[in-house]
Amino acid sequence: MSADRWSKCPRCGGDVDTRRSAAYGTIPREEYERLIRVEAAYPPETLREDWEIFLRDGRFYVSYGAMCLGGEDRKGCGFSFEFKHEEAVPSGAWKP
Ligand SMILES: [Zn+2]
Repeated sequence: MSADRWSKCPRCGGDVDTRRSAAYGTIPREEYERLIRVEAAYPPETLREDWEIFLRDGRFYVSYGAMCLGGEDRKGCGFSFEFKHEEAVPSGAWKP
């Protein structure tokens, strides 16, 4: 499965800028600097979305997964979602 997009988490909002601003001046400097280093390793959005969609051997496949990597130390807020579907392509679709 390929990593296709990062977007905003529907549970926590994944608002890194707001979290960073709220932390500034309210936590020890070393902790704030550690927070900035952790955040710099990720895109600003926290919801990683991956999907695949394809036809193979007369069957249609779609797979989607999303997982939040926001929250404390980017360990995720707990939100995740997965959808998979597979079905045979109708035989009429194969005729020219
Ligand atoms: Zn989240």
